[in-house]
Amino acid sequence: MFDNLQERLGSILNGLTGRGALSDKDVQAALREVRRALLEADVALEVVRDFTDRVREKAVGAEIVKSIKPGQMVVKIVHDELVSMLGSEGVTLDLNAPAPVVIMMVGLQGSGKTTTTGKIASRLTKRDKKKVLMASLDTRRPAAQEQLKQLGEQTGVDTLPIIPGQSPTDIASRAVQAARLGGHDVVILDTAGRTHIDEPLMVEMATIKTKANPHEILLVADALTGQDAVNLARNFDERVGITGLVLTRMDGDGRGGAALSMRAVTGKPIKLIGVGEKMDALEEFHPRRVADRILG
Ligand code: GDP
Repeated sequence: MFDNLQERLGSILNGLTGRGALSDKDVQAALREVRRALLEADVALEVVRDFTDRVREKAVGAEIVKSIKPGQMVVKIVHDELVSMLGSEGVTLDLNAPAPVVIMMVGLQGSGKTTTTGKIASRLTKRDKKKVLMASLDTRRPAAQEQLKQLGEQTGVDTLPIIPGQSPTDIASRAVQAARLGGHDVVILDTAGRTHIDEPLMVEMATIKTKANPHEILLVADALTGQDAVNLARNFDERVGITGLVLTRMDGDGRGGAALSMRAVTGKPIKLIGVGEKMDALEEFHPRRVADRILG
């Protein structure tokens, strides 16, 4: 399954069979390979350090038993720690609040926010039989509101009528009001992104949050985000206070190290993953699968 790391660790450690316990030196050598594998998977450096410290604690002094090769033993420790850091299985959206439940989508431009808004709305409508309203709060890109409207038409989900000239916070208030009047169970607010994190973006997100009182604030991020993942997740979490993460483009070639980075710095669960451009390309997050993929 993770032949790569297994083989690398095997060549370092398997000669130790029958030698008592793993020494600090053995573990150091193994951790160099673990570090390399994680960096290749695009896990952020500070998270790699933290992770290898945890593995070191568990591995040094571990008994080498005859029935299992030392290399395999360390791979198991690494894998278990990875799964534990990635979080639990089966975390889903929390809709446990009085209707209309507000979900606020945040993230950088191009991360897949609007697409994910459509996917979540479509799933809640079709699978969970919820009445959903979507609203685009992106007044910076004129095409953004139109893009969401088209997704609404495509999926059969209501979208808030566009009124040119309104501010994002005004649109947020209008959306919640319209959902209340329209008997919607859920209202999803698709906020504007930027190419990078800046102060006005954070202020805008915080103001919308105050106004709309969202029950879920989901940070949408590209799974291919490399070292920036930590900065991105930390900023949004500290300034806006996210309740969960959605990783998009998990269908791509990347090994998904951003999942570990963002989960590690925020402690917030990865609730869903995007696996394609189509409206049904949304899946639950399975920590074991992602751990296997990160280890290569
Ligand atoms: P936004 O600027 O954050 O709203 O990003 P968009 O939702 O407009 O998405 C940007 C591009 O990424 C679009 O071409 C989407 O089709 C694509 N996209 C979004 N999610 C996924 C995904 O999970 N997998 C793939 N392959 N493409 C995606």
